[in-house]
Amino acid sequence: MRATVLEFHDIAPEVRHFVFEVPEIERLHFKPGQFVSFNEAVSGKMITRPYSIVSLPDGNRFELCLNLVHGGVFTPHLFAMKPGDSIEMSAPLGFFTVRDPAKEAVFVAAGTGIAPFRAMAPDYLSHPHAKQLTLIFGVRHENTIYYRDDFEALARRHSNFRFWPTLSRAESSWTGRTGHVQTHLLEAIGDRRDLNVYICGLKAMVDDVRAILKESGFDRKQIIFEKYD
Ligand SMILES: Cc1cc2nc3c(=O)[nH]c(=O)nc-3n(C[C@H](O)[C@H](O)[C@H](O)COP(=O)(O)OP(=O)(O)OC[C@H]3O[C@@H](n4cnc5c(N)ncnc54)[C@H](O)[C@@H]3O)c2cc1C
Repeated sequence: MRATVLEFHDIAPEVRHFVFEVPEIERLHFKPGQFVSFNEAVSGKMITRPYSIVSLPDGNRFELCLNLVHGGVFTPHLFAMKPGDSIEMSAPLGFFTVRDPAKEAVFVAAGTGIAPFRAMAPDYLSHPHAKQLTLIFGVRHENTIYYRDDFEALARRHSNFRFWPTLSRAESSWTGRTGHVQTHLLEAIGDRRDLNVYICGLKAMVDDVRAILKESGFDRKQIIFEKYD
């Protein structure tokens, strides 16, 4: 199938939020947290790259959050796309979805690793037996807290949702959390060991968080992760 760009806007320097639709179908079926794969010939070579869907199921539309990787093979091509352009895409796939909404959860994201959580957080919280959900989101600067308004609005609607952005290069005016996501992990889990922790981002962060959790006594089944590289 082919996905057509409907619109896009930049949500931070070199980070773009895209709205796509798949005109040939009425409904794109997926679970919040899954990804689509784009396939396109770049310089004569077929390239495939997966991207997490940042929206909830909505007819044949879906949204993505893309980071421009300098020197990357595929992302410069995606950033050249304009409304009306289309790209070949595979059906949504992936196992990085909410496992047990009746179990307390911590979501850990850095950078564009926030993408699946923008869909998974409202999905988790919509469950009638949802427990406490904490989202720890690490970025460098305050103006790169992607989807801040959405998460803050979600926290106002759900008293069981804690949104913890943390800045690794905070400006002096910032009064919130600082440092990397790892700094806040133990506070989020407290003395609980019966919750699920979901992690998404680049390999170095994901591996580091997994190591901390294992050392703290978490079973591997409770650590659910998606690595972007
Ligand atoms: C399941 C899955 C879901 C993904 N979802 C997203 C998403 O929602 N948004 C998104 O921007 N990317 C996402 N990615 C990464 C994406 O598939 C590509 O790897 C990325 O766009 C780089 O492609 P490229 O061809 O431009 O770079 P390449 O030429 O393949 O170069 C790869 C380099 O880019 C780095 N890299 C990969 N992803 C990122 C990133 N997000 N930010 C910074 N550096 C990165 C890698 O460390 C590596 O050094 C996802 C990856 C996986 C496996």
